[in-house]
Amino acid sequence: MSQRLRRLAAGSTLFAAVAAVVAMALFAAPVSSVQSGTTAAANAFHGERALRFTAAAVAFGPRVSGSDSIEQTRRYIETTLQGFGYTVRRDEFAATTPVGSVPMANLIAVVAAADGAPAGPAIVLAGHYDTKLFEQFEFVGANDAGSSTGILLELGRVLAENKPPLPVWLVFFDGEEAFIEWNDTDGRYGSKHMAQRMEAAGELDQIGAMILFDMVGDADLSFPKDGNGAGWLNDIVWETAASIGHDGVFNDNITQFMEDDHLPFTKRGVAAIDLIDFDYGPGRRYWHAPFDTMDKLGSDGFQAVGETILTALPAIAERILGR
Ligand SMILES: [Zn+2]
Repeated sequence: MSQRLRRLAAGSTLFAAVAAVVAMALFAAPVSSVQSGTTAAANAFHGERALRFTAAAVAFGPRVSGSDSIEQTRRYIETTLQGFGYTVRRDEFAATTPVGSVPMANLIAVVAAADGAPAGPAIVLAGHYDTKLFEQFEFVGANDAGSSTGILLELGRVLAENKPPLPVWLVFFDGEEAFIEWNDTDGRYGSKHMAQRMEAAGELDQIGAMILFDMVGDADLSFPKDGNGAGWLNDIVWETAASIGHDGVFNDNITQFMEDDHLPFTKRGVAAIDLIDFDYGPGRRYWHAPFDTMDKLGSDGFQAVGETILTALPAIAERILGR
């Protein structure tokens, strides 16, 4: 076994995470509130811009939690979101990790709902913005997780001009990656912190649904369904994708059980799904490797994801509101 494969086996972030891959034929009942055709918000989404936001984050180099470069990345995210008119909140905390206490911060921007929209809980669109620590090579994490930063910024740009049917929170998690080895205590520091904090404050009912974006930039993008995710949310997203011609990206034949930043929330009863294409390069060769660079990414996948999620928002809101 090569050194790389040993590292994959031992240090696997999401590999350990794929508990099983199950081929399933899914015959979900139609969700009547899924609309036909894209929305104005979806039409305003530009995959090329998401790609450019990703490149800007990746240009900061390795963005390991606690590093100077992740602080520069935070400032870039904040400045960009402020440029769209948002107030950005830093939720700072000290994470206890195998390498000691590490200062971290989640970033949260709230998109107000459209005028006249009914009151209701928020739809959280989330991703992580840290990259995994590697000392043996420079890891810039274009897809993992530069792509999460890029798509969230483009969604933020679009939603500032096209108000959603319920409030949307744009959440950038710090510390998704493990410092040593992915397990219950190493990794997902930011999402655990936020879920625990909200639970302690009795605030989890402020979240109606969560969609997590991780590794969404692959030029050859194809998502399995998330078996750990909420079925109704998967159904709306996948049916929406099919209705606007993106069933090539939202693959209806494969289900994976992903451990990621959504689980601290699903464990606490929040409806969430993880959109992740873990099949990155031949034999996952690009994942957690020096090959995870911008040349592996493409705008078409971003476009499909952005259009699908923005088109799905009204149906997700209807479901949250119990209509
Ligand atoms: Zn990773």
